[in-house]
Amino acid sequence: MYKIRALDECVFELGRLPGVGRKTAARLAMHILKMKPEDVQRLADKIVAFKENTLFCSVCGGLSESEVCPVCSDKNRVQETLCVVEDAKDLFVIEQTGYYKGRYHVLGGKISPLDGIGPDKLRIEELFKRITDEGINEVILATNPDVDGETTAIYLTRLLKRFEQLKVTKLASGLPLGTHIEYADEMTVLRALEGRREL
Ligand SMILES: [Zn+2]
Repeated sequence: MYKIRALDECVFELGRLPGVGRKTAARLAMHILKMKPEDVQRLADKIVAFKENTLFCSVCGGLSESEVCPVCSDKNRVQETLCVVEDAKDLFVIEQTGYYKGRYHVLGGKISPLDGIGPDKLRIEELFKRITDEGINEVILATNPDVDGETTAIYLTRLLKRFEQLKVTKLASGLPLGTHIEYADEMTVLRALEGRREL
C-alpha cells in the first residue's frame, strides 16, 4: 500500500487541533487539496499573521495587538469595576452588547478537576493583586453557567470575601444552563449583565 506523505503530515497536524478528530482532519486535508493555491496561501498567511501579531494583554490577559489592550488603556472606562471571564472570547461577546463600561480580567480557563485544571492554573493571584493595586470596588463574575464555571464562581466568591469593601456580583441566570457566553446572543448577555445579583 502506498502513502502520500504530505497528506499524512497535513492530517496529523490538523488532527492536533482541539475538537478535530482524525476523520475531520482527513476531510479538511482533502478540502484543502481542492482549494485554489492562492486561497490555501491566504489561509496559511492569516494563521501565521494571527500568531505573530496577537498577544495577551499584560493587564487583563485578554487578546491584544499591543502590550496593553484598548479596553485597559481606555481612561473613559469605569476603572473600579472588573468583569471576570474565563476566556478572551467571552470578553468580545460582552463588549458587543455595548452595555458594560468597566474593564475585564481573563482567568484563562476554569477550575476543572477532570481536566486537571486547579485554581493555580488560572490568573487568580493576578486578580487579587489588581483588586488591591487598582482600587477595584466591584467584581462581576461572568463564568459560564456549567458545572466547572459555577465551581469557579463559588471558589472565587469565597476567596473574594477577604476584600471587605468589595461588591461581588454574578451574571443573572438569564443564560440558559449549559449555554456558554460565547454562543449566547447579545440580548441574553445584556440581560444577564443588567440583572446581575450581589453574592
Ligand atoms: Zn487588557
